Amino acid sequence: MIIAVDGPSGVGKGTLARTLAHHYNLAFLDTGLLYRQVALHVLEHAGNPENEEDVLKAVQRIDLTVFNDDNLRSEAVSQAASQVAIYPGVRDALFHLQRDFAKNYASPYKGAVLDGRDIGTVILPDADKKIYLTAHTEVRAERRFKELQSRGLDVTFDKILADVKARDRRDQTRVHNPLRPASDAFVLDTSYLSREEVLEKAISYIEK
Ligand code: C5P
Repeated sequence: MIIAVDGPSGVGKGTLARTLAHHYNLAFLDTGLLYRQVALHVLEHAGNPENEEDVLKAVQRIDLTVFNDDNLRSEAVSQAASQVAIYPGVRDALFHLQRDFAKNYASPYKGAVLDGRDIGTVILPDADKKIYLTAHTEVRAERRFKELQSRGLDVTFDKILADVKARDRRDQTRVHNPLRPASDAFVLDTSYLSREEVLEKAISYIEK
């Protein structure tokens, strides 16, 4: 079984996808980490994430299999990731990697679940199940704020809200593979749902 989970930041995609992976014994890929890797490399090499040449150089140089860098989750990298993600050269380079992950999962896995922005629309349009999560901007910013605070970071809610809005705008308005639900996706608003309720609704959609 191949499952696509898409939606904007702070909506609970990662938590849901990871839990589904565990529940159904699926290989799991957080595709945002790929864009974050590219962004981190650009920032660490004094490049500009809004400069296409710097970004394409980073894509050619990095090892896209190392995901254990704490810096990948920082707010600066989140913003830069959405800046590098607008370039088709970046999206093309990451396309096959994501596709291969979904097609070549190894035993004992029984399939794969990928979470991102364009999994159901572009990367895996033939996925068996597609889930698109959505939630009010303020609720998503609050979740992100609490997450960063719990990691000991010095952040303010207003700054995080502005960051979430900026990232939404970039992800939704970019020309190549913008964030949007696939026409055959199960759309779920998680604003007022607990993690358990989100999981329950996702499972009942999958098993329908
Ligand atoms: O999911 P995450 O917040 O880690 O993603 C970081 C950024 O990477 C997003 O804001 C988006 O611009 C980009 N991204 C994307 N397509 C994906 C996954 C992430 O464009 N499939």
